[in-house]
Amino acid sequence: MHYAESVLETIGNTPLVRLSRVTEGIAATVLAKVEFLNPGGSVKDRIAQAMIEDAEAKGLLRPGGTIVEPTSGNTGVGLALVAQQKGYRCVFVCPDKVAEDKRATLRAYGAEVVVTPTSVAPDSPESYYGVANRLTDEIEGAFQPNQFFNPAAPAAHEASTGPEIWRDTDGRVTHFVTGVGTGGTITGTARFLKRVSDGAVRIIGADPEGSIYSGGTGRPYLVEGVGEDMWPGNYDPSVVDEVIAIGDAESFAMARRLAREEGLLAGGSSGMAVAAALRVARGLPADAVVVVLLPDSGRGYLQKLYSDSWMRSHGFAAADAGPTVRDVLA
Ligand code: PMP
Repeated sequence: MHYAESVLETIGNTPLVRLSRVTEGIAATVLAKVEFLNPGGSVKDRIAQAMIEDAEAKGLLRPGGTIVEPTSGNTGVGLALVAQQKGYRCVFVCPDKVAEDKRATLRAYGAEVVVTPTSVAPDSPESYYGVANRLTDEIEGAFQPNQFFNPAAPAAHEASTGPEIWRDTDGRVTHFVTGVGTGGTITGTARFLKRVSDGAVRIIGADPEGSIYSGGTGRPYLVEGVGEDMWPGNYDPSVVDEVIAIGDAESFAMARRLAREEGLLAGGSSGMAVAAALRVARGLPADAVVVVLLPDSGRGYLQKLYSDSWMRSHGFAAADAGPTVRDVLA
């Protein structure tokens, strides 16, 4: 019999899938690392498991302990599923602007969700960071993973994502492209790939136009999960060769193409990363191998970038859906 002892064993070892349609006119091989096939639906399962196991090893988290994190997104799902399997209580704090669906996903795993008002200053004790810190201080045995600064997050990518890419490309990967949010994915994966290739693998960050990694001021953009308005401790610019800024319109258009042309229903940050990867790949010879990471699924964005009316109401082109069945039969 071939089975996983628990869902935790199914984290990682995600496949590389060749992109063959959106790469028209490109000689290089472009391979997508499909992280939405992790059990929690995103790349964040990797760091959730790593941060929790690191805290256990250091005695920061003991049986009966509580995990508290100010997050509502993919990291929350990863933490919720790992905490559930390991028997920890899990409390998430998120602002009230976070969609009810996201909170419901966390509760579905048995986590508790505390909702705070959006309309307070980030340094206010009522902000979601402030409330998370207070809960961490006051709940006995509480531990806050803090994905922006916890070195176990990049270490997880150094120990798993990087080695998987190297193994699955037989060491032929020449370029690695990924979006930058907390910086954990790019930093850890790059550290491994730079080390095994003697610095030969080129590391390219993709960043939303307006975000600081590509020289912006943090001005708003709509793609989720990537970009920053402050420098998190987990981003190590010394292992990044280049950062490419991609606008929302191009990110969303590419995500929609991935679904319709490659059968990969992914989030907006995946569209952004692939748009950057194609810019990189365009000038490369046939023996180049570009790996681009797709962090999460498009299922969480059906009412946003996958909705034609949402796209149009935000000023983005929504590809003409073409004739309806009724038009065809008329
Ligand atoms: N895309 C999505 C959808 C994310 O949630 C994140 C994590 N914030 C990223 C990309 C970026 O990953 P990292 O935080 O490791 O830089």
